[in-house]
Amino acid sequence: MRSPAYPVTDDHIHIDPVNGRGVEAAKDFLRAGGTHLFLVSKPSWSLGVLPSTGADYTRVFDETLRVAELVQETGLTVFPVLGVHPAEINRLTERMPLAEATSVMKAGLDCAATYVREGKAVALKSGRPHYEVSPELLAASNEVLAHALQLAAGCNCALQIHAESGPCVDVVEMAGVVHMPIERVVKHYGSPDTPLHPSLIAKHDALPQLIREHRRFTMESDYMDENSRPGAVIGPKSVPRFTNHLVASGQMTVDDCFFVHAETVEKVYGVTVQLK
Ligand SMILES: [Zn+2]
Repeated sequence: MRSPAYPVTDDHIHIDPVNGRGVEAAKDFLRAGGTHLFLVSKPSWSLGVLPSTGADYTRVFDETLRVAELVQETGLTVFPVLGVHPAEINRLTERMPLAEATSVMKAGLDCAATYVREGKAVALKSGRPHYEVSPELLAASNEVLAHALQLAAGCNCALQIHAESGPCVDVVEMAGVVHMPIERVVKHYGSPDTPLHPSLIAKHDALPQLIREHRRFTMESDYMDENSRPGAVIGPKSVPRFTNHLVASGQMTVDDCFFVHAETVEKVYGVTVQLK
């Protein structure tokens, strides 16, 4: 295959060979011009795992790494991101008290951090519910998020967070307490008004303006790869498609592509992005 003229990185995608299209979805990304992707672990329930200890997340993370290897065989570069989905708090509290659920989620993150330390994953994932919850649940979720920030700081890795829409200004202070650099706290499904690093959905209206202003951001599809939810968010080709469209319409130069899809990715995650 002819090597692409510029890198195209999807900052947040799921590939699920069990419940979705699996490697075929990754091949769509590749054929559309994608080169690198951050493969994010799926929530435990989507794999039928009912965790009651942190070690129970091993099954979820090992599955993510198995899929990463399959996808890597297509020629794509895969960066695994492991963590505990913030909505797990609702699932867990159906089966156990809130204090125990909080401990299980923190222990799940501890487990994810061991993979980062071993070099098997590049970043952690956490957050807090993006929907309305009770003050108790929100406080517990913030405790889990604070733990994730501390782990990421200790592992010297980036942290993707899934949280309510808007800037999440309070996370700046939470990160400061544990000396976690905010430019390595990635707001998944982010907006340009966040002081954290914004990972913007590929079709975001603000992209041309941010490119003109030379602002740092990354692009994501948040493709779920679940056959039961076709078209949920957008498809696996969306990051290359929107990038190629911006280039073709003169709103993004090849230099801009290297800035967004390589240099910024390297700065945030500490990985190397090279064209093969
Ligand atoms: Zn996701």
